[in-house]
Amino acid sequence: MNKICVIKGDGIGPEIINEAIRVLKVVRPDLEYTECLMGGAAIDAVGVPLPQETIDVALNSNAVLFGAIGGEKWDKLERHLRPESGLLALRKALGVFANLRPAFVYDGLEELSTIKASVVKGVDLLVVRELTGGIYFGQPREKLADRAYNTMVYTRDEIIRIAKIGFESAMKRRKKLCMVDKANVLETSALWREVCDELAVNYPEVELSYMYVDNAAMQLIKNPKQFDVILTENLFGDILSDEASMVVGSIGLLASASIGGKVGLYEPIHGSAPDIAGQGIANPIATILSAAMMLRFALNDEVSALKIENAVKRVISEGYGCADLANAKIKLNTQEMGELVAKYC
Ligand code: NAD
Repeated sequence: MNKICVIKGDGIGPEIINEAIRVLKVVRPDLEYTECLMGGAAIDAVGVPLPQETIDVALNSNAVLFGAIGGEKWDKLERHLRPESGLLALRKALGVFANLRPAFVYDGLEELSTIKASVVKGVDLLVVRELTGGIYFGQPREKLADRAYNTMVYTRDEIIRIAKIGFESAMKRRKKLCMVDKANVLETSALWREVCDELAVNYPEVELSYMYVDNAAMQLIKNPKQFDVILTENLFGDILSDEASMVVGSIGLLASASIGGKVGLYEPIHGSAPDIAGQGIANPIATILSAAMMLRFALNDEVSALKIENAVKRVISEGYGCADLANAKIKLNTQEMGELVAKYC
């Protein structure tokens, strides 16, 4: 039995997760779900943002499907008691070190992007970001009165494990891997290149290229179609994955997966959207697509993942959308969107 730990969270979290499960039940009726608390909902119920029980269930599941957490109600709590501390602690407990963020522009939705439709039409790329190393975690780090410093550090093993995910992702796609770095300035980047060159021998079909991060930031706006898989370290990936999502233009369509540890975490890139929570108008597609990533990466079920992705494409090509897709001809509420995707699966 494949077990899924479900964390609905706060705000629109429960609404969007319900629709993802509706769709999953059609393509994979065999999955077993255990609902767990995290974020504001957990603080209200048991006083902490990540109860031990949630960690235990997550670690004994095949995957964690997560909605979103957070809201004004909990913003004034001490940092370690706030909802987002729960998410950071969960990522740590799961040991996920690779963040995968696809950016896909659907036919007919090019106008959602602030970039010219002719430039974004046909974009289909994946950012593979290292998640647990680099300058965000490197030691030593310190802020003194007149001087502050951080350390960007990577070990060969840390690079090998994320680079393998980059190459393997490219193999499942159009077999193009662009490693983004700053090798003209940084020693860590030089090590990344060395490791990627060595690994490339094992993936002869993958076309490996390198690009400096400043150029990549420009190329993502100038000609995003040139990219298939972008592989990069933590800090650069943090920035470039957000930039890539803006190529698409709608936050309600973007999925993500954090993998590499014992159990993967699958979640939309957006937050709990308190401004529209409880109204039944949130777009569940980002969460539904995160569920498709879960099937692909956690359960190795490419067929069901594609069924969901193709159903979403059909829904959008027929002009359906939620309130966030301004140019959709037929507006659906959250539940209607979930029902239609499920029907087309
Ligand atoms: P947000 O992503 O929640 O919302 C930004 C804007 O996008 C809002 O106008 C919202 O209505 C809209 N939006 C988001 N998801 C949508 C969807 N599925 N359909 C339609 N519209 C959608 O970001 P925010 O407003 O900065 O943050 C709100 C809360 O979410 C905060 O408490 C923040 O800390 C939290 N947050 C959580 C996560 C997470 O759980 N992973 C990520 C980011 C922010």
